[in-house]
This record gives sequence, structure tokens and C-alpha cells, in this order.
Amino acid sequence: MIDNTAAIEQIKYKFAEKSPKAYVRSFGCQQSVSDGEKIKGLLGLMGCQFTEDENSADIIILNTCAVRENAEDRVFGIVGSMKKLKELKPSLIIGIAGCMTAQSHVAEKIKKSYPQVDFVMGTSAISALPHLLLECLEGARFSADIGEYDDFSAVVPQIRESGFKASVPIMFGCNNFCTYCIVPYVRGRERSRKPEDIINEVRGLVRDGYKEIMLLGQNVNSYGNDLEGEMSFPQLLRELNKIDGDFWIRFMSSHPKDATRELADAIFDCEKVAKHLHLPVQSGSNGVLRRMNRRYTVEKYMETVDYIRSRDPGFSLTTDLIIGFPDEKDEDFQGTLDIIKRVRYDNIYSFIYSKRTGTKAAEMDDPISDEEKGKRMRKLLEVQREISTEHYKRFIGKKLRVLADGKAKKREGWLTGKSSEFIIVEFEAPESLIGQFVDVEITDAMNWAVVGVISK
Ligand code: SAM
Ligand code: SF4
Repeated sequence: MIDNTAAIEQIKYKFAEKSPKAYVRSFGCQQSVSDGEKIKGLLGLMGCQFTEDENSADIIILNTCAVRENAEDRVFGIVGSMKKLKELKPSLIIGIAGCMTAQSHVAEKIKKSYPQVDFVMGTSAISALPHLLLECLEGARFSADIGEYDDFSAVVPQIRESGFKASVPIMFGCNNFCTYCIVPYVRGRERSRKPEDIINEVRGLVRDGYKEIMLLGQNVNSYGNDLEGEMSFPQLLRELNKIDGDFWIRFMSSHPKDATRELADAIFDCEKVAKHLHLPVQSGSNGVLRRMNRRYTVEKYMETVDYIRSRDPGFSLTTDLIIGFPDEKDEDFQGTLDIIKRVRYDNIYSFIYSKRTGTKAAEMDDPISDEEKGKRMRKLLEVQREISTEHYKRFIGKKLRVLADGKAKKREGWLTGKSSEFIIVEFEAPESLIGQFVDVEITDAMNWAVVGVISK
């Protein structure tokens, strides 16, 4: 990590020991949220206080997502509305961080069309934030080059969103170049953190009382491919499982092509690894999978599912699906409906295909209308709702271990949490149990959650 000591001291001096108020908002995936926690950590070192109200902020940082166009449009809308804030308070510093800024055409657009923005910061330059801010305080605009640093292994202080759930990025970037996806262009190639750094970080978090550790990577199960045999992802899970303490380990997202039997065995063997696997299939059509460059077939994917289910027939799986990939035919969509019925996922995360400039799929002909895509999406959700309602019934009469997350939205005096299987569980309990593990006897199932009573 670059040395920020002098820059931090100068920033404090410039603010004349007054605590500037910072507003940080992250969009997109958990990696982005984790980056936002690092941005806050660095701002904290500079003496900033945090505010949820952008109107009272001295520093605003929007930490952005580029995976789909609507996420970008939202940010442009918000940045546009911040012009007024800057007019009212010219000393306000506005920075745009994250995946959007790593696309040169977007960085250029911000520079040209949004004069209220003072700097952009790429995903690999977070530790340079104090230098960027200092340059802005000295009057420079857009002085730093995006992507100038690559601090993926830097230990940056974090102000975490939760006191009991922590994300730990273990690798960055992606080598897969799925034809629809912008991630390899904005996050670069795969780089794995050193195993000892990860193990030490997790040990520290457990010591601090964290109950859930979420290991993050765009392609988390290819962890270690660049470490010359030092450690594979299943081995890392086994090492983390040895850490003393009452906590569980989750990880996201796994690519099906790297979802080996060793990985499945590690999940079953390690009692601290949550009993759930998120395995994005994207489509149930081999033709579409080929054009997506996913490097597996439906049959190969099902082999992995069958192996897992041979060890535990009720094992919980979730997935991501893209609807309306260029030239997705009716029969391709039917394949997607078929696979969700065969696998019986507990939950699906489905997205309408979004064209991303610079990707291969952006060049493909797309004769399918938006109306048809919308129709398919509604059908998919309808089928999944039926599957979830039916499938969740397998928990009725069983006891699930749940990490209580917070208050239930609709029921007074109830809490909500997730079970090891990643199922939402609601139950009546005092707020003092938030952040604790509880055993819940499941009494009923809905299509989005199960409910139950705390075991005596
Ligand atoms: N690396 C993970 C994998 O391979 O499954 C996923 C990471 S990606 C940031 C999260 C999800 O966003 C993907 O699984 C995919 O379903 C969706 N996604 C990515 N690019 C998309 C696009 N151009 N349009 C719609 N959805 C997209
Ligand atoms: Fe994107 Fe594919 Fe990499 Fe996932 S594996 S981040 S979908 S390119």
C-alpha cells in the first residue's frame, strides 16, 4: 500500500482539525460494498465523520457498479442532481469510484459533462484516495490517472457496515471473459491474495466477534490458480475451518467450470462452511452457454449438481440467470425453465441482458424485443415462485441454525435472519439476539422465506 501518512496529516491540517462530513454510497455487488468500507476506513483516518445526508456533506464519494446499464444510469442521475449541491457549497468535493470509472469512455463522459465531479478513482486505486483528496483540496481536478496503482493485496483499514457479518475479498479480477460481462475489463485479471493474509484477517475478525465471514471473488473458486500450487480454494476453506470460534464461512460467486468435487467435499467436511452453494448457471441452453463463453454445458453443470445432491438430496443451491441474451430463442428459454425445475433452486437472481460497450456480446445481433424479454422474465419468476414455495416445505418440522440479522419488516417483535442454507427465516425474538446464532424450529414456509419459533 502506498504511504499515505503525509497526505493524511496535510488533509487534517487543511480542514483545520474540523471533522469534515463524508457521504459514501456504494452500488452493486458485495465486492463494491467491501470497497466502500475501505473508502470509509481511509476517510476515517483523515478524521472524517460520516453522514447519511448528502446535503450536509463536505466530501461525497459514489462507489459505482458497471455490470448493467441501469446501475450506471442511476449514478448519472444522482451525479446530475449534485450540481446544485456544488453550486451551494463550492468547497464540496465529489468523487466517483468503482467499476464505472474503470471504463475510459465513462471516465471521459464524467470529466466532460459533469463539471461538479472533482475526481474519479478506479477499483485498484483505493489506497490512493488520500493523495487524490489532497490534490483536490489544493485545487486540482482530475489530476490522478485512473488505474495508476494496483493495491489489491494492500491491507486498507475498513469501517464495516455490520458488527457481525464481514466480507473478505480473497481474489480480484476475472480471466473468464463471458461475452456479456464487463467485469474482466474493469477489474482486470485474476489476482489471489496470499493465504496467510486471508487466514490472519479471518482470525482477527473472529476474535473481534464476527459471526459470518463472506469470502469474495468474482470467480471465488478459481482462488489460487495464480499461486503456483501454494493453495487451492478447497484447501483454503479447510484451513479457515481450523480457526477456533463460533462462526460460519460463506463464499461468492463460484463459477461452475471450477466447481470441483474437492470443493463440494470441503463444503460437506467443514462444519464451519455454510451449507449452501451459489452456482450461477446463466442459461439452460447449450447454444446460449457457448455464445456466452461459459465453458460448461448443461450436462456438465448437472453432473456437479447431481454429485452434491447425491451427498445431500436437500442441499441448498441458488443461481444467477440472464434472460434475453442476444438471439435467445424460445427453445433456449425453455431450456432455462427446464433447468430451474430440475435443479430446484431455493432462489434465483435473474437479470434481463444488458448490452455493455466493449464486450463481445455487444456486437451480436439481438432481434428479440424488450416486450418478449419482459414476458420471459415474468414467466421465469412465476415458475421459480412455485418451486420455492414447494421446496421450502422440506424445512417444516426441522431445526435451522440462523444468524439473526435484524428486525423483520412486517411483524412487530419478530426478527429476520439467514440460515446456514441461505434461507430467510423469520421468528419472534427480542432485539438483543440480533447478531447471534439461534436455533429455530420451522413451522411454515412461504415463497420467499420460512417462519418458526426459537428452540427452547
Ligand atoms: N462471476 C460470477 C459468475 O460468473 O457467475 C458473477 C459476477 S457478475 C458481476 C453477477 C451477475 O450479473 C452474473 O452472474 C450475471 O448473471 C449478471 N450479469 C453480468 N453481466 C450482465 C449483463 N451484461 N447483463 C445482465 N446481467 C449480467
Ligand atoms: Fe463476469 Fe463471467 Fe467473470 Fe463472472 S466469470 S465476472 S460473469 S466474466
